[in-house]
Amino acid sequence: MLDRLLPDICVGCKQQGSIICKQCTSNLLPHPEICLATKHESPYGKITRWARQDGRALAWCMICFRFDPLINTCIRALKYHHRRHLATFLSSKLSLLIQCNPLIEKDTTLLTRVPSHRWRRYITKGYNQSQLLANRTSINLSIPSVHLLSKNRHTLSQVWLNRKDRVTNLANAYTLTNQGKKTITDNKITTVIIIDDVVTTGTTLNECAKALTIHFPHLNVWGCCLARHG
Ligand SMILES: [Zn+2]
Repeated sequence: MLDRLLPDICVGCKQQGSIICKQCTSNLLPHPEICLATKHESPYGKITRWARQDGRALAWCMICFRFDPLINTCIRALKYHHRRHLATFLSSKLSLLIQCNPLIEKDTTLLTRVPSHRWRRYITKGYNQSQLLANRTSINLSIPSVHLLSKNRHTLSQVWLNRKDRVTNLANAYTLTNQGKKTITDNKITTVIIIDDVVTTGTTLNECAKALTIHFPHLNVWGCCLARHG
């Protein structure tokens, strides 16, 4: 609603005409393919084997952009300032990343998102930015976006916590829904891609992946994020 009232002003340079201009778009740099745990180069963002022995259920993580002030502004505008049209631009980049990945079999893949506490979501802004991104990506790629996970309890913001506290804070915070179990079984799903805006250590994505692989150990769980912070 508010989005429609605002003129199209570039989130980067503030010029009128589009929500993000061509010049600013060209300044966004692709993120290298790295293992989220080791930070070493790794094709398609595969989490390396030895890192996965450390309780990691997340197998891969694709990341669109290097974290810089512009992508940060884009994400904040989507998240906190109701610039929902940005989701169209940002999800087109997520879609491209998935579409160009030869390891993803679209027919046996589902998209999902990191769940948040319902009441908090609606009180703060009326929508969930990851859901918006997942839904738009789903339309672009014709891959269903399904609410596979629910959040059991409120958790602290991960921003100020160290790695160990992040893990404790989120331990068993997510559960696979009954609808999720049924959808995965009925459609012989082999791959789940969790869409999120920013990834830091990957603890949240990993906890979500755990909730999925406890029930379905065969699943390849991917993260797909706009940027990596830290
Ligand atoms: Zn611009």
